[in-house]
Amino acid sequence: MKYIGAHVSASGGVFNAPLNAGKIGAKAFALFTKNQRQWVAKPLDEETIAKFKANLEASGILPKYVLPHDSYLINLGHPEIEKREKSLNAFIDEVNRCDELGLDKLNFHPGSHLNKISEEECLEFISNSMNEALRKTKNVKLVIENTAGQGSNLGYKLEHLGYLIKNSIDRHRVGVCIDTCHFFTSGYDIRDEKTYDESMKKFDTIVGFEFLAGMHLNDSKPELASHVDRHESIGEGKIGLEAFRLIMNDEKIDDIPMILETPNSDIWSQEIELLYSLIKN
Ligand SMILES: [Zn+2]
Ligand SMILES: [Zn+2]
Repeated sequence: MKYIGAHVSASGGVFNAPLNAGKIGAKAFALFTKNQRQWVAKPLDEETIAKFKANLEASGILPKYVLPHDSYLINLGHPEIEKREKSLNAFIDEVNRCDELGLDKLNFHPGSHLNKISEEECLEFISNSMNEALRKTKNVKLVIENTAGQGSNLGYKLEHLGYLIKNSIDRHRVGVCIDTCHFFTSGYDIRDEKTYDESMKKFDTIVGFEFLAGMHLNDSKPELASHVDRHESIGEGKIGLEAFRLIMNDEKIDDIPMILETPNSDIWSQEIELLYSLIKN
C-alpha cells in the first residue's frame, strides 16, 4: 500500500497538522514540531500533546505514516565543536518532541562541511552526533534524507548514507528518506524504466531497501546532476510523470510515508489523487 500526503502547516500548534492533512485527503504527512527557523522552542505541554494525539487518531492516519522534519538550523557535522554541540542538543530535543507526540521517526539532512573540513571528517562528525542522539533518546528512528548536494551539504551520494548506517550503534533506529528531486539533481536518473531500475539497484546495494523509511515526492526545476535544490509540482519538472508511475508501482516502496514538498500547496489534493491514479491494479 502507498501512503501519500504532504508537508503540512503546523502553524497555531502541532495539533493543527493532522487537521490540515485531512483537508487534502492525505494518508501520510510531514510537519515541523517547532518553528524550523528558531533554535529554541517551548516544551510541548500535556494539553498540546493530547490534542495532537486526538486529532491524529480522528484523521485515521497512523503515527508510522507521519514523518516529522527537523529544523533547518541543525548541522550535525558542523566543523566547530560549540556549534556542533548546539546542533546536537537541538536535535536531541526534536527527537524527544517526536517521542512525546507518539511519533516514531525524525527526518533530517545529514550536515554541511562549510568548506572548512573534508567530507570524510564531516561524515565522521555526523555519525558521532547521530550515535550520541541514539544513546540519549529512545523509540524514534533517525531518518537521514539524501540531498541535492547544494553548497557544502553532504548526503548527495548514496555512499554517504551507507556510511552513516554502517557506523550507527543501533541500525534498528536508523533509516533513510529518498527525496526524488534531490536524488535526481544529485545525479541519479529515474526518468524511465531502465534508468529507474539502475538507480534503485544502486540504492539497494549501497544503502538497502530495508532502511527506506520514507520518501519525499517532488519533481525538479533544475536538470539532472545540477546539484541545485528546487522542487517542482509532480509532472511539471525535469523528472516527469513516468518516474512517479514507476515509484507508485514499485512494491519495494510500500508502507512508508510518501510526502509531497511541492511548491503549490493549492494543488496538493490533486497531486495526491494524480499519484494514486498512477497505480496499476
Ligand atoms: Zn528535507
Ligand atoms: Zn525533502
